[in-house]
Amino acid sequence: MIATDISAISSETCQGILQEVFGYPQFRGPQQAIVEHVANGGDALVLMPTGGGKSLCYQIPAIARQRAGLGVALVISPLIALMHDQVGALHEAGVSAEFLNSTLSGEEAYQIEQRLLRGDITCLYAAPERVTNPRFLALLDSLYERNQLSLFAIDEAHCVSQWGHDFRPEYRALTVLHERYAGVPRVALTATADDLTRADIVERLQLQDAQAFVSSFDRPNIRYTIVEKREAVQQLLRFIEREHEGDAGIVYCQSRKKVEGVAQTLVNAGIRALPYHAGLDSRVRQDHQNRFLREEGVVMVATIAFGMGIDKPDVRFVAHLDMPKNIEGYYQETGRAGRDGLPAYAWMGYGLQDVVNQRRMIDESPAGEEFKQALRGKLDALLGLAEATDCRRVRLLAYFGEQLGDGPTYRCQNCDNCLNPPDIWDGTDAARKLLSTIYRIQQSSGMSFGAGHVMDIVRGKTTEKVTQHGHTALSTFGLGADFSEIQLRGVLRQLIAMGAVAVDAEAFNTLKLTEQSRAVLRGEVPVQLRESVSAPASRSKTKRPGAGSAVVKAPIALDGEGLVRYAALKAWRAEVAREHNLPAYVIFHDATLAAIAKRAPQTLDDLQGISGIGAKKLEAYAQEVLRVVNLG
Ligand code: ADP
Ligand code: ZN
Repeated sequence: MIATDISAISSETCQGILQEVFGYPQFRGPQQAIVEHVANGGDALVLMPTGGGKSLCYQIPAIARQRAGLGVALVISPLIALMHDQVGALHEAGVSAEFLNSTLSGEEAYQIEQRLLRGDITCLYAAPERVTNPRFLALLDSLYERNQLSLFAIDEAHCVSQWGHDFRPEYRALTVLHERYAGVPRVALTATADDLTRADIVERLQLQDAQAFVSSFDRPNIRYTIVEKREAVQQLLRFIEREHEGDAGIVYCQSRKKVEGVAQTLVNAGIRALPYHAGLDSRVRQDHQNRFLREEGVVMVATIAFGMGIDKPDVRFVAHLDMPKNIEGYYQETGRAGRDGLPAYAWMGYGLQDVVNQRRMIDESPAGEEFKQALRGKLDALLGLAEATDCRRVRLLAYFGEQLGDGPTYRCQNCDNCLNPPDIWDGTDAARKLLSTIYRIQQSSGMSFGAGHVMDIVRGKTTEKVTQHGHTALSTFGLGADFSEIQLRGVLRQLIAMGAVAVDAEAFNTLKLTEQSRAVLRGEVPVQLRESVSAPASRSKTKRPGAGSAVVKAPIALDGEGLVRYAALKAWRAEVAREHNLPAYVIFHDATLAAIAKRAPQTLDDLQGISGIGAKKLEAYAQEVLRVVNLG
């Protein structure tokens, strides 16, 4: 049995490990409370946004308990493709870690098992399917019998829930851990914030008695921007060229075909873009993922098949070219930007077509009506966010039940609406003209038409189709000649979002009135819109691949010499990373290199106290760093 009355692991011990092993001066947010609770044998449910620092919440307890003679921590992670890097990062910090998964040979796995039994390993990573494997359970049994099983960490715990977006049935089997190994503390961690998923995790993993640690889900370093789509890919190009030259980023698209097309467009513009989607060969996918993690400044153009567990800290932007299904998805995906806490951007383009597509997908899905209604509600919340004229962050967090500052009137000053408050115009009149046109067409011909045609009538355009159907004779013909097409599109989008216009997917996306149309027609429901800011013209310059990649951007202000040192350090880091077959950020973060470049250290002592340099890294790299700094 587990000895529960071990002498308590103190606050100082945990703080000491943070400093010595990871080189960080302070815990972040609730990390300290979690670490101390788990290190002392408590069960915990940790809900923390991406980038919040979940890993330390089990790694430090694992180290502390190993040092107290309690054996190995088992870390369950669903991401075999990433285990190598996770373990590599611990090795760099001087922690004895290994993984057991299907990529190892029998001999390699045997060696690790032997080391486990000898008590040589602090953190063992394994995929959830292992724990139903009898051989693996026998191994755990023998560790348990000798009090050498110190902790279970269940990462990405939302995978246990059907409500999460990454359901993994194997997670359901993890209850065996606490049934078979009573007394071994468990910590489950996730960045999925919604109540349904949380409740499911607690129930499925039987964590009713675990202490829940719920962090703020705010990501203050991420700047949210949502723009109306015109020529979406050109808008994206401008965004990347203006703000993100040479930066790593992720661009999400809905379809595989679009992923391929957008990646090609970016490559043609001289950006190092790679495609990623489930239709690609798994080796190609793995290769692209590795290049994204290991090379600098790669832009991954992907479907949502890409991203879970990607712990690259310096993703500087996440762009959505198509609107996601709901705010949960949007937040999860944008959350992959800026895990290092440095400024990062979330950019989304959305338009009428997105609204139509998403509605149609829901309508056409085979799900029951109640479920569809729930999906529509979630979509509406996202549309509300997109159309919002007030602070995006306030809206996002309110969706997850969190209030920022004094609530609705709070201004974060780091979203498009706070930085450039949009003008608002009253679209009620335009809305009524559109709705009565739809009504009159229906009345006169018994037919329905799509958005383009309806807008042509309102604007009084005598297109072939308008003339052919005699629609110049409608009493609303030309009544809205003052409105631009962009304005009318905006109004229609909002009417569809409000449910005041329905799109008939089975009849060529034609528009129909609904129950809710009446209230708008009567002027009872106002239609408020953001003024469309006309987008500045595109820079026509196209660059050849590789051109312009010499820009050095540091995360903190550096003078000329500092920048030279920073560039030299980055080049050195790239070499080390290649030798170790690890992503560069595992060696040192950009912020750490920039801090070194700024300080221009001459001696070992000068390196002390720079965040991100733990004892092992100091020992392994200090001489090299000093040499590079002084050459630079
Ligand atoms: P999560 O798994 O919650 O998304 P990670 O554990 O990957 O987050 O941590 C995000 C980043 O923050 C990592 O690069 C990590 O090194 C860094 N980090 C975590 N805790 C601290 C801390 N206390 N001080 C400084 N950096 C930290
Ligand atoms: Zn704001």
